[in-house]
Amino acid sequence: MPDQTLPYVSEREYRPAAGLQPKAAATAFGSGLLAVAAVAAAVVAWHLSGLPVIIGVAGVAQGLALGWMLRAAFRRAKLRSRASATVVCVLLAIGANVLTHAALYVRQVYAVRSGVRGDLAGREDESGAAALILNLSERPFEFYDTFVLRPETGRGGLVGFLLSKQGMTVGGKPTRPLGAFVVNGALLIGLTYLTARSQVRRPFCDDCGNWFGPPANATVVPAEHHARLAAAVEAGDPAAAVALNREVAGQDLGAGCAVAQVHRCPGCGHTFADVVVIISGNPDRPVSRLVRVSTAMVQALKSEPVVTVAEQGETPPPRPLND
Ligand SMILES: [Zn+2]
Repeated sequence: MPDQTLPYVSEREYRPAAGLQPKAAATAFGSGLLAVAAVAAAVVAWHLSGLPVIIGVAGVAQGLALGWMLRAAFRRAKLRSRASATVVCVLLAIGANVLTHAALYVRQVYAVRSGVRGDLAGREDESGAAALILNLSERPFEFYDTFVLRPETGRGGLVGFLLSKQGMTVGGKPTRPLGAFVVNGALLIGLTYLTARSQVRRPFCDDCGNWFGPPANATVVPAEHHARLAAAVEAGDPAAAVALNREVAGQDLGAGCAVAQVHRCPGCGHTFADVVVIISGNPDRPVSRLVRVSTAMVQALKSEPVVTVAEQGETPPPRPLND
């Protein structure tokens, strides 16, 4: 199938907001910080629960959850800038991964502290034991860095923890957290972006400040007619849409079809339409621009093949194109 791009530019075309919308991006980022804390806490709770830890699962779950929450944040903040949304997604996903592993580091510090305390129980009278316990209780991070991380990795803190072979337990075996940090981090960034971006791609009504809902299918024709359907929609030509509907009536859709989708603003009722080609097993492929359409055009797209626009009593006659 040829890549169909029509040779003219429609003035009625939907255009996403220009500019980076820094205020909306900052608002979305702020509410995204709460989502970051939530997904990090969920994974730490999982590690504390004793349930088996599988590398990659946390990244997938965190990415989908963070993406879903960011989608809501973008919707509330009315953020339509794709560039700003991408930056917010990547920064918050990196933040969620670092926060998760920082919390696992803290958890490991206290796990080591209680482990050493258990070993020393009943031996408080031995030389040095009391001092060790005091040191352990008052400065557990320093203790962990000095006696575990630095001898093993040469580094303290979060970096030493990520490099330590004893940092976390996966499948009952001590494991270096760096692998989980990299794998989960990549999944987290990718899935957060893929899940959240659909919101900023959704049309937004600049007339009344509402997001459009999911589109409704108005016309379905065999895929081979996609160019004619796209041309009728982009030109806003109700007669062409009705003629095509009549011509293809009863034709088998076969493996693929072209669909004219109508997007209606829930606030003011303005409608836009576009055409996608749907072939089973493949993602929907847009073959037209998203353009503003008249009520007459929506009626024509929705018309049954045997009924013309003129025959439907309440439908106004098609208006000239440049009204
Ligand atoms: Zn509107």
